[in-house]
Amino acid sequence: MITLVRRVTAVCLLGTALTACAATVQPAPRTARPAPSATSAPPTLAPGPGGLTPVFRNGSRVHGRTAALTFDADMTADQGARAAAGEHFDNPGLISALRALKVPATVFMTGRWAEEYPDQARSIGRDPLFEVANHSYSHYAFTDDCYGLPRVSADRMRADVERAYSAFRKAGVPDARPYFRFPGGCYDRQALRELTPAGVTAVQWDVVSGDAFATDAEAVARQVLEGVRPGSVVVMHCTRSAAPTTERVVRTVVPRLRARGFRFVKVSELIGS
Ligand SMILES: [Zn+2]
Repeated sequence: MITLVRRVTAVCLLGTALTACAATVQPAPRTARPAPSATSAPPTLAPGPGGLTPVFRNGSRVHGRTAALTFDADMTADQGARAAAGEHFDNPGLISALRALKVPATVFMTGRWAEEYPDQARSIGRDPLFEVANHSYSHYAFTDDCYGLPRVSADRMRADVERAYSAFRKAGVPDARPYFRFPGGCYDRQALRELTPAGVTAVQWDVVSGDAFATDAEAVARQVLEGVRPGSVVVMHCTRSAAPTTERVVRTVVPRLRARGFRFVKVSELIGS
């Protein structure tokens, strides 16, 4: 396990374009806002102290065996030339596997990814099995020193998040969720403050799959199986380029977790419960 953790840490340091790494601030537990009556508005958390953007890390540990698989559809704003040269930042096989296995999932999509793959973005966004959430437009970092990612300046943070929602709408995603995952999972008080007007709930995770740049699907699957507890949020990726084992990992862990009594849910269900 220590070797595994070391391997994951090394992968995170190398993985400048991917998330899957530790957060800089641990959120305090918060209470979910009651769902508004007679509407289907997705549940969000109440703002944190001082009106800061609230942070969600995992769901209830005592309300049944539910777990949320989340997939970051990473594409950094400057990777267009690599996509044009044939690099695949998408992973249609993974999405097909989730559909075949009937696994509800939350896809944290970058706006740049939705621009590159509008048909897939629309298809995911219109499939009730999935929900689309926001992983920024640019996949640039919202703090200093975030795995080598370029930095979004504070005065551009909200605009970067809103630009992603615009890209989703343009691709035909009807109702992207007000959930935001910081690139690299890196945030601080300033970032939480800058995003307050955007009205999003920041979503971190409690289980790092380690799928970023992994080549050993069994090792990643083992890490997920060892980490998942009731209410867990698992971070994985939806990009063949930098997470090539993820489809195989999903095909391995889903039946095993179901055999342990787990039911897969979207992040919105964990936040609302
Ligand atoms: Zn990411």
